[in-house]
Amino acid sequence: MAYKINNTCINCGACASACPVSAISPGEFIYRIDPDICVGCGACASVCPVGAPQDS
Ligand code: SF4
Ligand code: SF4
Repeated sequence: MAYKINNTCINCGACASACPVSAISPGEFIYRIDPDICVGCGACASVCPVGAPQDS
């Protein structure tokens, strides 16, 4: 299942660097995950300082 970034995101960008399939990009207010690209590995959640990426 794709992960989703919730609005606690502080725009640090760590998750985008950690994603093996480049599914994460900066959005207008918070980073976002493309659900069609995400493979659900959880790497983004592991590096996020605020726990914003959630398994959906
Ligand atoms: Fe990328 Fe994995 Fe996070 Fe999906 S769960 S956005 S594939 S790091
Ligand atoms: Fe937002 Fe967490 Fe990604 Fe940083 S690592 S951009 S706080 S979701």
